Amino acid sequence: MLTAAMSDRRHTWKARWVFPVSSPPVENGCVEVEAGRISTVHNRAASSDCTDLGNVALIPGLVNAHTHLEFSALETPLEPAGQFSEWIGSVMRWRTDRGPASATILAGAAECLRTGTTTVGEISTDDSTLPFNPRIVSFRELIGFSPERIEAQLEIARQHLDQSANGNTLKCGLSPHAPYSVHPDLLRRSVDLAVERDVPLAMHLAETPAEIEYVQRGTGEFVEFLKRVGLWQTGDVERHDSILFYLRELARVRRSLAVHCNSLSTAEIQFLGKNPHVAVVYCPRTHKYFGHTRHPWRELIQQHASVAIGTDGRCSNPDLNMWREAQLLYSNRETISPAKVLELVTLAGSKALGLEDETGTLQPGRAADLAVVELSSKSADPFEALFGGGSVVGTIRNGTPNW
Ligand SMILES: [Zn+2]
Repeated sequence: MLTAAMSDRRHTWKARWVFPVSSPPVENGCVEVEAGRISTVHNRAASSDCTDLGNVALIPGLVNAHTHLEFSALETPLEPAGQFSEWIGSVMRWRTDRGPASATILAGAAECLRTGTTTVGEISTDDSTLPFNPRIVSFRELIGFSPERIEAQLEIARQHLDQSANGNTLKCGLSPHAPYSVHPDLLRRSVDLAVERDVPLAMHLAETPAEIEYVQRGTGEFVEFLKRVGLWQTGDVERHDSILFYLRELARVRRSLAVHCNSLSTAEIQFLGKNPHVAVVYCPRTHKYFGHTRHPWRELIQQHASVAIGTDGRCSNPDLNMWREAQLLYSNRETISPAKVLELVTLAGSKALGLEDETGTLQPGRAADLAVVELSSKSADPFEALFGGGSVVGTIRNGTPNW
């Protein structure tokens, strides 16, 4: 029987294939773990107690760079009937009616861990206590379209960041929500605060054509939406030529995440190629759920931009299973290599969250965070066997198995 006490001593995990991500796959590989951290990866005889997991792959724990755990109680996503702003309205109503978020956050965290995800970029909307497992980077959502809300939102932001300053191990960041829900001064000042505190910042960006119309011309369904909820104030909002204005703001922060970017111009893709500290977070199955046009993730990678992967919340995805996102990426990869697909769901996410020295690869000194994936027996090629196989069947976090 495997127990939590295993994390305190030396143990070796053996598998048909080990994928360190930082180096090529190792056949019949061993991952040796000591006190919760990886000490070595090799294919020699194990030097400590060894569990041979058989015909499976050991990969770094998956990194979900963007989700909203507060929606984890939803059995099915909220209907995207009609306009995108109507879906936003459904999200707002559900949030108001759902009661305290803690129970749903715990359920979502458990689902992540069960399906191989050991690190999560979470958008937090209240002061619910977050679990330590999986590892969470908590981005406090800031929403304030009217100037009167700016100071109160910034105070919430400061209090959120003080949590990590006060010795709490939780890593915190900020998330001004989106161009149509954040006053330009609130955006500027939350970016200033993220720079001052050196914390990551995430923003939903370029999610729909309607948002791009709103940014460029100040017309369309988002104006109607803001009028409906009583927030539209003529002349109150600065107009910008393009999403580039927002990308430039994000680029002021040492690490930032531009979530979605479903439609980008050539100039915007080139800008992201020159600013790899701004990671685009692509949410493949959420993107598919809304039926958006082709996502530019392959073009971004070709231009050397950073791309990380998220599920988004259960309000737009039937589950939080990152391995299903990986399998969808693999089937749509075109000229992108399978090794890069595996990197996108592991190391790329930990880099975007500023955690690449801690997790995302199987290297000596990193936390022993691993996912165990069923292999297809039909292929001798390690990546074909990995992506053509089945599900995540186990998770190891800080050396402790979660099964
Ligand atoms: Zn989101």
